[in-house]
Formats: sequence, C-alpha cells, structure tokens
Amino acid sequence: MSKGYRFFEQVNQAFDKAAAYTRFDKGLLSQIKICNDVLHVTFPLEKDDGSIETIHGWRVEHSHHKMPTKGGLRYSLTVNEDETMALAALMTYKCAVVNVPFGGAKGGICIDKSKFSKNEIERITRRYTYELIRKNFIGPGLDVPAPDYGTGEAEMAWIMDTYRQLNDELNAEGCVTGKPISQGGIRGRTEATGRGVYYGIMEACQNKEDMKELGMDQGLEGKTFVVQGLGNVGYHAAKYLIEGGAKLIGVAEIEGSIYNEKGIDLEELVRFRKETGSIVGFEDTRELGNNKKVMEVECDILIPAALENQINEENAGSIKAKIIGEAANGPTTTEAHDILKKRGALIIPDNYLNAGGVTVSYFEWLKNLSHVRFGRLGKRFEETSYRKILSVIENISDRKFTELELDYLAQGAGEYELVDSGLAETMITAYNEINELRKKHHVDLRTAAFINSIDKVGTIYESMGIFP
Ligand code: NAD
Repeated sequence: MSKGYRFFEQVNQAFDKAAAYTRFDKGLLSQIKICNDVLHVTFPLEKDDGSIETIHGWRVEHSHHKMPTKGGLRYSLTVNEDETMALAALMTYKCAVVNVPFGGAKGGICIDKSKFSKNEIERITRRYTYELIRKNFIGPGLDVPAPDYGTGEAEMAWIMDTYRQLNDELNAEGCVTGKPISQGGIRGRTEATGRGVYYGIMEACQNKEDMKELGMDQGLEGKTFVVQGLGNVGYHAAKYLIEGGAKLIGVAEIEGSIYNEKGIDLEELVRFRKETGSIVGFEDTRELGNNKKVMEVECDILIPAALENQINEENAGSIKAKIIGEAANGPTTTEAHDILKKRGALIIPDNYLNAGGVTVSYFEWLKNLSHVRFGRLGKRFEETSYRKILSVIENISDRKFTELELDYLAQGAGEYELVDSGLAETMITAYNEINELRKKHHVDLRTAAFINSIDKVGTIYESMGIFP
C-alpha cells in the first residue's frame, strides 16, 4: 500500500464529484455517504501447534436504505477498518447501479491465508460467523456475506453451517451466498463476477461511436488485453474475453509479470502455475520484472483484477491501454483516474463492472428464499411447447429436423441458462444507463455510475420521509 492511501476517502471523493449533479442537499448526501454500522471483532485462535493467535475481523454495514445488506468477505493482510468501510460503501453504490435491492456491506479478516492450515481457516471462519450472529450482523433478512478476495465456496459453506446450527429458521440457507451447489448455491455464481466483467467490456466495445473516439473498431474481436491477478475474477474475465475473440497478451501475478504479443494460452498458464507455483517461465513468454510492469505495455484493454491502489500516481502516466476495465474494487486512485482520463482512456468503473457477483448472489438468495431451483417448474413445459412449434413447421414446410437440431432448438431454460440470461440483461442494461448519463452530463463513467446510484438511494431516503 502506498503511504497515506485512504480507500474510504477515495470512494467519497468520487461520490462528491457526482453529488454535484444530483438534486439532494448536503444533509441527505452525508446520510448516504456515512457507514451505518461498523463492527470490529477480535478473538483467539488456537493454532494446530497449540499456540494462540489473536485474530482481527470487521463487518461494516454501509447503508440500511434497503435490507438485507450484502457484501463479500475478504481474507488478506490489507484488511483494516478503512478498507472494509470503503468496500462496504462501494457495495451500496454497485447494488444501486445494477438494481439489486440490497444495502451495501463488507467483511474482512486480517490474515495471510497461506500461513494457516485448512483446519485453522475453518476455525477462524466459524468463530467469525459466531461473532456476527451474537452481534446481529448476519441473517437472510439482515446482512448476507459472499466470497471476495481470499475466500470462496468452502468459507461460505462453513458460514452457512455455523449459522444454521444456531438458528433453526426456515430461510437459514439465505444467510450467505457463493455456497457450493449442494449447500444451496446456484449454478453460475463462481464465474459470475468475471462473466459480468466480460459482458460490461463487451457492451462498451459494441458502441461504435465510443470505439471510434478511442481509435478502435467496434467489437471485441482481435482486441488485446492484459490482466492483473489470475484469481477467481481475473481468470474468469480472461476466459470469457478470449471466448469473445479478444487476445490475452500479458498477465501479472504476485510473483511477477509475463508478456507475449502473439497471445498467451490461459488454460495452459493456469496448469503451469498450479504445477510450478508461478506464472514466470511459462512457455514463449517474456518476464517483465515486477508484478506491475506488464500493466504498462501497449494493449487495448487493461483489467486490474487483484486489489485496490494498483494504478496510482506512480504508474498511471506509463499505462497505455485505451480501456481500463476495473474488475477489482478500487484499483485506480483518484489521481490516477484523472491522469488516465486526461489521456482519453475509457475507464469502466468498479462500482459497475464487478457487479456481476452481487447480481448472481441476489439470484442465489432468491433461490434460497423460494426453496426451488430456477427452471425446475418451466423447463420441461418449454421444451414440449418448442417441439410442438417445430413439428408444425415441419408439417407446413419440406424441412425435417434431425434429433440433434430438435434437441438444440427445443431446449428449455435450466438454472444456468436463466442465471446467465439475468446476468447479461443486468450488466448490459446498466452499462447503457450509465453511458447515457456520461454523455448527458459530459462526465466519465465513474461519475455517471455514482450519479445513477446517488439518485436511486437518495430517492429512497426521500420517500421514507426522513428528510421532508
Ligand atoms: P482471489 O483471491 O480469487 O484472486 C486474487 C488474485 O490476485 C490472486 O491470484 C492473487 O495472487 C493475485 N494478486 C494479489 N496481489 C497481486 C498483485 N499485487 N499483483 C498481481 N496479482 C496479485 O480474489 P477475487 O475474488 O478474484 O477478487 C479480486 C478482486 O475482485 C478484489 O478486488 C475483489 O474485491 C474484487 N471482487 C471480487 C468478487 C468475487 O465475486 N469474488 C466480486 C466483486 C469484486
């Protein structure tokens, strides 16, 4: 972390810039901005070797304008109160931009996960959940965690199990999202954030006029990109961008950065890293020194997908990408944002672009409350109806469909298809909404996304009558 970096202040600076374009007065704006509840917990962990370590964790509920509040749980040494407050605030604005009816929240535990055994991580997660239960900071109608940096399905399953053991309520499964399918999870959640990043970037590239301004052709085909952080979000974003026709030419991970202008085989690289523990040395790639260097190469799209404060005053001037797709939360500081903007880059901001995760978390929560898998009631009915239509087509024409064609054309929507369709609809609609605001107010996309969410959250506060 660079010296003096205050993440929550950075989020609020972006908020203030956008607030000037809204109709709300100072009082209401400060109510939107403030964190409603901040919880700091400490508890002892008995390690496998019998020694005791004190663990620090946080949960911040930024806004109760909608309930429950929602936000990921991060395991990292970067975790502190300021970071958790900033990430919780971003969740409020993100949910509003994509019309997901939650207030924002975030949790974090300050640990280096690699220094703990699986059993120790399980004990930390269960004890943290117990603390949240005791303090009323978790529940399907209260506050619902999800995966973030350093956490995944395993942690979510432990949270759910701990919660359910202590609360025998009917909707207990909805206390957390990002669970394994067998524990009430939903198909498509693991890849949702990266897939949402892909939909957002794809939609931006579909806009012919905007691409022309950047000196690029419309569409994803042939566009080069670099990704920083090959974890859940970075890997999936890269995977779908490649499937969409873009070319991965650079990757940065903790251990260093690699580059090949002819393209990098993502799946082979992941396999190589699993075997060797590093991306460095991967076939036909050039090592580029430290783990930020590759962000400075000539490319069309740069995707920071690791942590905050990665593009700052020190390197913003050297970054050449025409589009910055903020998959991570807070990767670009205010100062860096201004430098990139002045150069004419299109910054697709975090408070929109990584909202795919919370969108599909919302679908998972709905599934848990309704106790039925999406598609279960309609899939077979749809298939039968499509087959009837196809047989009418066969009867009135010479066309006879093969069994393969019938299977393809008469496919009903299952859970994955419905989740993906809902995700695409959400990301594409929201992009066009904020892009219109960008043009209307002659601002950048980040400011437009903030204007959009301040308007929505402010209107709710107004209608509650708190500010007559
Ligand atoms: P993750 O733990 O799965 O992966 C992060 C990756 O980044 C790891 O592989 C790590 O080694 C790498 N990394 C860390 N520091 C780095 C550095 N300095 N340079 C290069 N690589 C580095 O985490 P994730 O879930 O993919 O989250 C990544 C970002 O996306 C975070 O900012 C998170 O808040 C945000 N996000 C995640 C989700 C989600 O659903 N997981 C949703 C919204 C936003």
